[in-house]
Amino acid sequence: MSIVTLKDLLNDSKQKKYGVFATNAFTFEMAEVVIAAAEEKKSPVILMIAEDLFEHLNPEKISPSIIPMIRKAKVPIVFHLDHGMDFETVSKSMYYGFNSVLYDGSRYPLKQNIKIMKKLRKSSNQLGVSLEGEVGHVGGLESGERDIEKQHIDSDKYTKIEDALEFISETRVDALAVAIGTIHGNFRFKPDLDFKRLEEINDAVDVPLVLHGSSGLSDQDFKRAISCGITKINYFTGLVSVATKKTRETVCKNDSFSYLTLNKIVMESVKEKIKEKMDIFGSTGKA
Ligand SMILES: [Zn+2]
Repeated sequence: MSIVTLKDLLNDSKQKKYGVFATNAFTFEMAEVVIAAAEEKKSPVILMIAEDLFEHLNPEKISPSIIPMIRKAKVPIVFHLDHGMDFETVSKSMYYGFNSVLYDGSRYPLKQNIKIMKKLRKSSNQLGVSLEGEVGHVGGLESGERDIEKQHIDSDKYTKIEDALEFISETRVDALAVAIGTIHGNFRFKPDLDFKRLEEINDAVDVPLVLHGSSGLSDQDFKRAISCGITKINYFTGLVSVATKKTRETVCKNDSFSYLTLNKIVMESVKEKIKEKMDIFGSTGKA
């Protein structure tokens, strides 16, 4: 089991119609908890570090510890770079041991997004690294929109089928992130996803589809998205919220808790949330 490619894992989830939970580790304990949750649920999982979290967990230093943990795991795990924002970072990350990377060129015009991805394809092929691309643009916190009050969904930036087709035929990515109404960070409003568009994209392309910015979605939204072709679900903000809430509750209840106990309680709550989502995504027992 242990380390598998994104390509192999998502082809299995596409065929069997389940969603793979994908989240970012922001501490070493968080990486351990993601793996433990997957093992307890006998579920595959995608362990990610986003470029904007490198200040918390630097893969250059930490990968030599995380990768052996993944190799020893009893379930299939992908070690994935989330939202690599430029060619240099993504190229370097392949040498840190990520066996899958997202180059996020979604803020650029399609042609430029394609051009950079094609350049990355050369090294990813040599190293056996899977590639995720993004066409259309999922807005929110990871795209520099730090002021949550300004958060809005711009349907002009939803993924267009003809763009997705052109991108895939040019780049041969292994997975495609689509914009259909989700947002990075906490939703300020009730999500209203464009499932019709998702179905049309899924009918038109053969690569597995990825949903970003999914923390505010309902169980029904997740199930419907998976039935319409979503195979990888990035879920992060919801875990940070659970950790923050549990920390506050625990400290308020008893301020004599040691940090060690606190850390254990908080990480346990994060693990439970991950396991809950694995059940909803239908990946439990699929390892
Ligand atoms: Zn994302």
